[in-house]
Amino acid sequence: MQIERAHVGNSPSKFARASILSRLCYTTVEPCPMCCWAILEAGIKQLVIGARFFGLKKVKVGNFSVEKLLDMTGRQLEIIDGIMVKDCTEIRNTWFDQIK
Ligand SMILES: [Zn+2]
Repeated sequence: MQIERAHVGNSPSKFARASILSRLCYTTVEPCPMCCWAILEAGIKQLVIGARFFGLKKVKVGNFSVEKLLDMTGRQLEIIDGIMVKDCTEIRNTWFDQIK
């Protein structure tokens, strides 16, 4: 996810800027609380999520979900999930294995 990359220090690509302008963001994995807030502040209206935290081997955000953050803050974001879940979960779990 490009906004997530910004979170870890890389500058967003041209693709990320185009996605922000279209107000649609695709994520391999459900964004963490900080990236979710950045998505909201960027004016993103639709978020397409691949893997969810509950499906991953290793998670550092407890039982966080985007929906819980939206409930807590009263913010609006259309969530589109169930897209390439198996592939996205495998990509993230493989990455977890590689960073041990
Ligand atoms: Zn993040």
